[in-house]
Amino acid sequence: MDIKTIGVVGAGTMGNGIAQAFAVAGFPVTMTDVAQAALDRGLKTVDASLERLVKKEKMTAADKAAALARIRTATKAEAAAAADLVIEAATENLDLKLRLFAALDAAAKPEAIIASNTSSISITRLAAATQRPAQVIGMHFFNPVPVMQLVELIRGLATSDATYAAVEAIAKRIGKAPVKVKNSPGFVVNRMLCPMINEAIFALGEGLATAAEIDEAMKLGCNHPIGPLALCDMIGLDVELAVMNVLYEGFKDSKYRPAPLLVEMVEAGYLGRKTGRGFYPY
Ligand code: NAD
Repeated sequence: MDIKTIGVVGAGTMGNGIAQAFAVAGFPVTMTDVAQAALDRGLKTVDASLERLVKKEKMTAADKAAALARIRTATKAEAAAAADLVIEAATENLDLKLRLFAALDAAAKPEAIIASNTSSISITRLAAATQRPAQVIGMHFFNPVPVMQLVELIRGLATSDATYAAVEAIAKRIGKAPVKVKNSPGFVVNRMLCPMINEAIFALGEGLATAAEIDEAMKLGCNHPIGPLALCDMIGLDVELAVMNVLYEGFKDSKYRPAPLLVEMVEAGYLGRKTGRGFYPY
């Protein structure tokens, strides 16, 4: 499969970043969302992100304009489905994604590949909602997409070698570093990162050290650029809790149980930076 055109479904945090990465690499992109306002916000984010590159002289104004001109928007998911590679980056909700995959499957070209950027939903399950499970794959980008190099490529049970090869090649063409991962709860990065953050929250809850001390220890002792609790504030405590629940339920293993303090802070609405309060005040 020679991928020439890209469809991105969902213009949120990840969708607009994915659209930007492909557009900068020269691919025509159709980005869709249910609401025009979300598309406008998504395009504005891409514009601002590219403008920062122009200011830093990492991109010319002409290249910025050309990249922006490659992104078309539409409020119907079917518009994105006309592409050779459709990347679904809509809200993380199983029912929504199952419906979306069935609709994309019906609208897409028979040879098109449909990928999902899901953080936690089984790729095999999404593939089973289509008539083309061999052409369904996970493309798990990291936030912020234009900056982060990794993309986890997740093979569902039925994903074909040809689909994997095509998606691996395109990921490299946009300058990303793909890593092959089996379909399993949390894939690789979240499987390790989220339990580490969760353990930091256990330590805080047990009074081992203060939040600032835990973060300082991990920065200086492990050479991490940011402490686990400050990172959790960036990710969102609700997102951390959701991933821990996916691991806990997916593996049915108590080692993944969410820290009680995490659960309680989410109940209180202390979700991190986005609510102005998490492990630190903002
Ligand atoms: P977001 O809330 O910022 O954006 C989701 C967008 O999807 C919204 O604009 C929403 O209007 C749109 N949407 C909902 N239903 C739709 C539909 N039927 N058709 C088209 N668009 C629709 O969410 P996000 O953080 O960008 O996450 C998107 C996906 O990426 C999720 O599956 C999430 O798990 C995954 N992900 C997120 C991150 C992250 O750090 N935020 C990292 C990796 C993967």
